[in-house]
Amino acid sequence: MGERIDFRDGRWVVPDHPIIPFIEGDGTGPDIWRAARRVFDAAVDKAARGKRRVEWLEVLAGEKAFKQTGSWLPDATLDSIRAHRVAIKGPLTTPVGGGIRSLNVTLRQLLDLYACIRPVRYFEGVPSPMREPQRLDVVIFRENIEDVYSGVEYRAGSGEADALIGFLAERFGAKIRPGSAIGIKPMSKFGSQRLVVKAIQYALRAGRRSVTLVHKGNIMKFTEGGFREWGYEVAKERFGDKTITEDETGKGKAENGKVIMKDRITDAMFAQLVLRPDEYSVIAAPNLNGDLLSDAAAAQVGGLGLAPGGNVGDGYAVFEATHGTAPKYAGLDKVNPGSVILSGAMMFEELGWTDVAEAIVRGLGGAIRSRRVTYDLARQMAGATEVSTSQFAAGIIEHV
Ligand code: NAP
Repeated sequence: MGERIDFRDGRWVVPDHPIIPFIEGDGTGPDIWRAARRVFDAAVDKAARGKRRVEWLEVLAGEKAFKQTGSWLPDATLDSIRAHRVAIKGPLTTPVGGGIRSLNVTLRQLLDLYACIRPVRYFEGVPSPMREPQRLDVVIFRENIEDVYSGVEYRAGSGEADALIGFLAERFGAKIRPGSAIGIKPMSKFGSQRLVVKAIQYALRAGRRSVTLVHKGNIMKFTEGGFREWGYEVAKERFGDKTITEDETGKGKAENGKVIMKDRITDAMFAQLVLRPDEYSVIAAPNLNGDLLSDAAAAQVGGLGLAPGGNVGDGYAVFEATHGTAPKYAGLDKVNPGSVILSGAMMFEELGWTDVAEAIVRGLGGAIRSRRVTYDLARQMAGATEVSTSQFAAGIIEHV
């Protein structure tokens, strides 16, 4: 019989047989979830020798939920994830323009999963456009709730947009072209600081050397500039004895094992990650910057097929594949399950089952080195054999 995971005094309390809800996802979701689940069970079995086991609980979202219940995101799903605290999901379809809002965004906002965590590292043998892709090894903490993704947006010509344009002109003399669409970019000290705190806590726990705040504060002084200012402030207030600013080290102060706090303007950061990737370790960024940076960084080490992600709040977490549903390959047992598999490794690491996480990463690394890989990797790797999603999973299990 499985038991629920709990969260007490800021820590996960994980039973030996935790119940973990999963959303298999749309499109290729079922293909990659089937493969991932086999890998997870094998890794848990190997690491814990039968003493621990996950009881997977399917919850519905996306097209499958709509077909069965008439709702894209049934209340029962949210209730179940809330009750069990930690879940894992495959990709979900997001209809573009109008209709329903992104299910991913809804999940994040409802459970207040304010940190989107994206580790980006290189796996030996993966084709990459870079000469030395192994120099990039970063963990990106992206604020997940605020910024231009907060969902406060009004269509061009709508009453709301016109009223806001009128109000801003009348009250503050702000000039906005009549008939414009309007989006709001809220960024709070509270929201920014709790994200930066998570990034610093992670850097300390994982023995990482620096945390870089990425912002466009040179242009957007109060929102993005605020993020920078609040980030440094909370580092000093809450971790004053464990962090040091880059400025201070430049002025001759010794690091003494402290985490170095630095900041970069967003556009410079994109260049830096390409040119001097090894100077960066943990990155904390507002929502939009973090989103763009995560995919760009993932591309440097060989693409999105292997990029995992986790959305983490206080006592709730949902881990997910970072790519979309790749609908043209649905049901073909073809695509790379690596992203959702590594998301699972992140989940086990977050829950303290580091032995399981390590087994999964070891298995995936071994499968890639054996060059029996899915089409996306095979088409770029010399001497590789293309295998199906399920054969790739079997290869991972062999190396677990
Ligand atoms: P996509 O599904 O990520 O697919 C784009 C391309 O990326 C695919 O055609 C394929 O490239 C490659 N790809 C994606 N997943 C792969 C995998 N597991 N293994 C190997 N290659 C993979 O992006 P999209 O076509 O823009 O979006 C499709 C749907 O997914 C949309 O409804 C979108 O809203 C949704 N979406 C969901 C999430 C999420 O749930 N987190 C994220 C992004 C998008 P090739 O064609 O070169 O083979």
